Amino acid sequence: MSTPYFSSDFKLGILGGGQLGKMLLYETRKWDVYTRVMDPSPEAPSRLACNEFIQGDLLDFDAVYQFGKGLDLLTIEIENVNLDALEKLEEEGLKVYPPTRNLRTIQNKATQKLFYTDKGIPTSPFTRFAYTSEIKDSMTNGGVQLPFVWKSASMGYDGRGVKIIRKLEDLDGLPNVECIAEELVDFKSELAVVVARNPSGQVANYPVVEMEFHPEANQVEFVICPANIDSKLAHKAQELALQVSEAYGHVGLLAVEMFLTKDDQVLVNEVAPRPHNSGHFSIEGSFTNQFEQHLRAILDLPLGYTGSKAFAIMVNLVGEPNESGGRIQTP
Ligand code: ADP
Repeated sequence: MSTPYFSSDFKLGILGGGQLGKMLLYETRKWDVYTRVMDPSPEAPSRLACNEFIQGDLLDFDAVYQFGKGLDLLTIEIENVNLDALEKLEEEGLKVYPPTRNLRTIQNKATQKLFYTDKGIPTSPFTRFAYTSEIKDSMTNGGVQLPFVWKSASMGYDGRGVKIIRKLEDLDGLPNVECIAEELVDFKSELAVVVARNPSGQVANYPVVEMEFHPEANQVEFVICPANIDSKLAHKAQELALQVSEAYGHVGLLAVEMFLTKDDQVLVNEVAPRPHNSGHFSIEGSFTNQFEQHLRAILDLPLGYTGSKAFAIMVNLVGEPNESGGRIQTP
């Protein structure tokens, strides 16, 4: 049976042209799937590997809506995109994976946490605030207690928009935005499971990995596959990740980040609805890498085998502050 995707006029759109998008394009090139990419930067890493590049603001309604016109399928490599435009495109019949409703829930950390509470998915207790300035009142009235974790509700990633508050003054200087105050979890380790799901409902998950974060930068520094935990706990983390993917009715990859507490509870921290740094080990470590798997999932192809070829470790190398690399030649 021939599929309509390869070496055809089928068009896949990808919102965001960063390094995750670029790695997804290694797979679209391999399979000769035509791609159109949008990114605000004229020097976006994806520019050289996509078939069509459009420079545009991912948060602008018109830019995203126009981008989606004429596509057969739309996916993302970053979740901060204009969702009203995606919703309109979806209403007009365009397939958008991950589904816009999931991006809506995930884009805001408060609604994401409420989703877990509503679905009975274990997560750390939290309080939602319309403004950071309201937290102090809550503390004096016996509400939120120190220490806690302040998280900006939107636009935070890689540790930006997250701060551990141990004393009142730690709140000084934080942006006065919608946020959550979350109980500080005394965790043994941070775990993640990347789950793939296609529209037909086939599901495949990668092994449970352990993530080690840089203590100051709050960025992941090492990802170890498989996690160094006993098989019962690994099974518990895997089952929880599958439950989360099912609750979302997700399509594409969903990276589920979790805390393993000192008393062996597994709590969901947050999810990323796309290829994720906790899945990079799969590029060399797994029989199917996460980018091929994302493509398989959104195209509703059979999912690939997620077993490991070997033990793997991912090391995140980040340049010095203010360091800039060589520039690509733009045509
Ligand atoms: P981001 O969206 O920036 O990745 P996260 O919510 O994943 O933000 O938080 C970044 C890191 O901060 C986590 O990986 C973890 O190390 C720490 N952290 C987040 N929430 C908590 C918490 N409730 N208790 C303890 N540490 C936390």
